[in-house]
Amino acid sequence: MTAHDPLFARPVGLLGWLGLGARPPAEAAAPEVLPTERRDASRLRQLDEIGSFLTYHQLEINAETLTTAFNYLTGADPHLARLIDRQMQARKPVTLAWLEEIFAETGQGSELAMLAQLMERLETSIDEFGKTSHDAHRATSEYNSALEAHVNELEQVTKAGAVISELATIAKVMLKRTRDIERQMLRSEAQTRTLRRRLDEARRSAEEDHLTGLPNRRAFEARYEEEYRLARAAAEPMCLAFCDIDHFKQINDSHGHDAGDRVLKLVAEALARISDDRCHVARHGGEEFVLLFRDTPLPAAFDRLEQLRDQLAGRRLINRATDLPFGQITFSAGMADVFAYPDRRVALKAADAALYRAKQEGRNRIVLATPEDGVAPQLYAA
Ligand code: GH3
Ligand code: MG
Ligand code: MG
Repeated sequence: MTAHDPLFARPVGLLGWLGLGARPPAEAAAPEVLPTERRDASRLRQLDEIGSFLTYHQLEINAETLTTAFNYLTGADPHLARLIDRQMQARKPVTLAWLEEIFAETGQGSELAMLAQLMERLETSIDEFGKTSHDAHRATSEYNSALEAHVNELEQVTKAGAVISELATIAKVMLKRTRDIERQMLRSEAQTRTLRRRLDEARRSAEEDHLTGLPNRRAFEARYEEEYRLARAAAEPMCLAFCDIDHFKQINDSHGHDAGDRVLKLVAEALARISDDRCHVARHGGEEFVLLFRDTPLPAAFDRLEQLRDQLAGRRLINRATDLPFGQITFSAGMADVFAYPDRRVALKAADAALYRAKQEGRNRIVLATPEDGVAPQLYAA
């Protein structure tokens, strides 16, 4: 590295080097085609709304608050949008401390996103290295066999004397060296396989909710994206349900957090029972779950979830640590026919809006999303 080396001249740090921090100008995105006036006006409006949101809540301007405002206003994160709406409806402030608390609870901090990016890059590097190492090992091995055959041939030739004998010695030394390289290559390949296995384990663990064992929200989002693409290509129906345990805070308040955890696990198990290769269940965060029904029309998906809701509501559960009754454990849900909406994010928001109505209409029920659902939430609802 020299003083003229760009890395030396402008240190970008480890994150920058990994491509996670600020990018050097050479890598910056190419300038976009000039926006039309309308696009310009809509961007300015969006910026204005983001600014109003931050000012209204007296939030400082940083990467987290800007992302939060953007995700809230565009509805890109329905869970966050709902939490903020509720906070505002309860006339409670949306502070930095409160945002950090909910990010920690839902495991959606920027650190997690950064870790995911890091893992993806590591995975690519390991795969590339594994392939290079395998190819190099094969080449060395083939070269060794050829060299060995030459050495054997040279040793057979006795009459040419000293020159041939010297050649044979040199060839033997080379053979020894390349055998050492071959052994090192084999070790590298084995280490690459171990690293790959560990990374797979880490990835599985990062995509699993440790309390319930269900896929977490990150895993769900990746799955949803993939299933949406497949279902659209195959012209198959797909629907989505957002479920939220009713009055769960009261369970925590009356029976304690550990008992709350057991109830969460119980509901997760109940939901997991209807999961199969066409129904994926995940914990979306807190006491919220999301179900994705593949190749299932809305009425059929509704019936399946409704049956489960009814069964759960009919049970009377006891806190086995205290023998006190939990009473009725119920959940509310909002369901949407995914392809009735312009894109999958709008469908998610529509299911979320329907869940909100299920709560307002008395809980312990499933409400179907209407075509109007999914519209961005009103900024400063009275
Ligand atoms: P609603 O019927 O309107 O959904 O009311 P609610 O009480 O269920 O909803 P609210 O959002 O007021 O409270 C949710 C509570 O869930 C608050 C939070 O502390 C609790 N919670 C979130 N994650 C966990 C968890 O992993 N374990 C436990 N025990 N509680 C959790
Ligand atoms: Mg709840
Ligand atoms: Mg909730």
